[in-house]
Amino acid sequence: MSEQDLDPEEFALDTLGIRAGHQRTFEQEHAEPIFPTSSFVYASAAEAARKFSGEEPGNVYSRFTNPTVQTFERRLAALEGAKRAVATSSGMAAILCTGLALLEAGDEIVASRSLFGSSVSLLAKYFGKFGVTTRFVELSDLDAWESAISEKTKLLFAETPSNPLSELVDIAGLAEIAHRHGARLVIDNCFCTPALQRPLELGADLVVHSATKYLDGQGRAIGGAVVGNDEQALEEIFGVVRTCGPCMSPFNAWIFLKGLETLGLRMRAHCDAALRLARWLEAQPAVTRVYYSGLESHPQHELAKRQQRGFGAVLGVELAGGQPAAWQVIDSTRMISITGNLGDVKTTITHPATTTHGKLSDEQKAAAGITPGLLRIAVGLEAIEDIQRDLARGLDALAR
Ligand SMILES: *Cc1c(COP(=O)(O)O)cnc(C)c1O
Repeated sequence: MSEQDLDPEEFALDTLGIRAGHQRTFEQEHAEPIFPTSSFVYASAAEAARKFSGEEPGNVYSRFTNPTVQTFERRLAALEGAKRAVATSSGMAAILCTGLALLEAGDEIVASRSLFGSSVSLLAKYFGKFGVTTRFVELSDLDAWESAISEKTKLLFAETPSNPLSELVDIAGLAEIAHRHGARLVIDNCFCTPALQRPLELGADLVVHSATKYLDGQGRAIGGAVVGNDEQALEEIFGVVRTCGPCMSPFNAWIFLKGLETLGLRMRAHCDAALRLARWLEAQPAVTRVYYSGLESHPQHELAKRQQRGFGAVLGVELAGGQPAAWQVIDSTRMISITGNLGDVKTTITHPATTTHGKLSDEQKAAAGITPGLLRIAVGLEAIEDIQRDLARGLDALAR
């Protein structure tokens, strides 16, 4: 059986990550090829005319038909249990193209308050410039979502679990609300990936991804995608990418294909390491609270168990000593990377109040739970003992 015959319904996620989507060329290559070509050639003027008009399927121009990018799209769609994926140049481009495709001036979005910082700016500032208004609500509060919906609401947009406090929304409940009001639900599945959460199965209409994070998994390339079964919406989104141009490069698509091959394996290892580190941190005297939905102490632990196949690898850690303590722990590390990226095999640490959430006012920070003593740790795949030792240096000094 050749790989192009692989039926997503019949195979497990680990297998799909390795084999789905690759349609071998006549060269009979085993690994997926990279096609660094901007255009494609035809045998005749008539064939060119048929390909350009779409009368005959086939490659035209790599802004919208590149075989390596399409292999990535088919593989990611298989992993999310979706009919179609559209790749984009970044996670932000995935959200932008979704909005450009599905909204017009006068429409409204309801979105969760605890979103990735650039997503807030994109919705509030840039969509706002074109007459699309966004109302922000508390992520976990379904009643708040419903109250914010008006007749003009076309999209509900949520990121679950949230960053860095690991709050969740009940996706099935939110999908039901969206559909009752004739709106679409879009879920940013960056933190879980399809290995841990499949929002489409829970009723979401579209999933957006920053491939930059766990899909790549090794911090190498920027990319994104929109995935779903809503063919009309995806055809519109494809049209935006085709016309406006925020497309994925074939080199990056190839890197993401290699990343997807180990997605299931990596996510299991990330989750195991994160749970061990969360339990260890909870027992540290300098730590007052650990935010992680894998802990029994998390208020939405039961929802996380029901909705996700794992709890992810991003932890919020609250220290008793406020900002000086948080900075001391960061500055005492020698191995862990002080950087804003996450979803990497390398463990990263940040102080949200002065970095990722630094532009928020004090009131906005307080409302979002971003306290001066909060650290965010995105747990990587180094030996857990080495991660603990790197954090213990600062934590032990604080406890003394
Ligand atoms: C990083 C991130 C994005 C944006 O993705 P880019 O690839 O950086 O454009 C969107 N949503 C979430 C949750 C993210 O973490």
